Amino acid sequence: MKLDRIVVASKNPDKIAEVESVLVVRLPNLEIVRGLEWPDVEETEPTLEGNALLKAHAVVAATGLTALADDTGLEVDALGGAPGVNTARYAGSGASYADNVAKLLRELGDNPNRSARFKTVVAVVDPDGEVVTFEGRLEGSITHAPRGDRGFGYDPVFEVDGRTMSEISLEEKNVMSHRSRAIAGVVAALLGD
Ligand code: IMP
Repeated sequence: MKLDRIVVASKNPDKIAEVESVLVVRLPNLEIVRGLEWPDVEETEPTLEGNALLKAHAVVAATGLTALADDTGLEVDALGGAPGVNTARYAGSGASYADNVAKLLRELGDNPNRSARFKTVVAVVDPDGEVVTFEGRLEGSITHAPRGDRGFGYDPVFEVDGRTMSEISLEEKNVMSHRSRAIAGVVAALLGD
């Protein structure tokens, strides 16, 4: 796989920062190329892996460089695995993080079963069409109200070991997050570990 330069196929600055902070530690010689443009990619596949591959392939086609894309879903057991592949648009297309969190808390109500997990599939695709994918998971539970002011998305209501992901530092989150596990898995596969 072509691995001298890579584009992180995301327009979400929160996510790019997380991905880059994991990549620079594991692949210090890799150049992360910033400032490129590509057309928006609609996440039309029914699976996280399908959507991650869709995004990575589109960015390779637009930039000619190796691309890393991810797709994340939150699975809530009491909601039959929802929002799942619809995590970003749970409260409707164009929904804000706050709208999505509010809908999640409303749907769960006082249900005592709060168990949930984040799943991230990371896909790396190079210009020759070589593909590596890996899934990372983080088990936790949904709180009854948001807590903390860091992170993004569902972080204020996703609790692990008594603290929400918004109550821990980015460094701590990066050690254990679903996304960092998926990136670490992909990097290990790329390095042949
Ligand atoms: P994406 O597929 O990575 O864009 O993520 C889909 C949605 O999942 C985002 O819009 C966020 O609401 C949520 N999400 C993804 N990663 C995280 C995270 O690390 N913490 C909290 N929410 C996340």
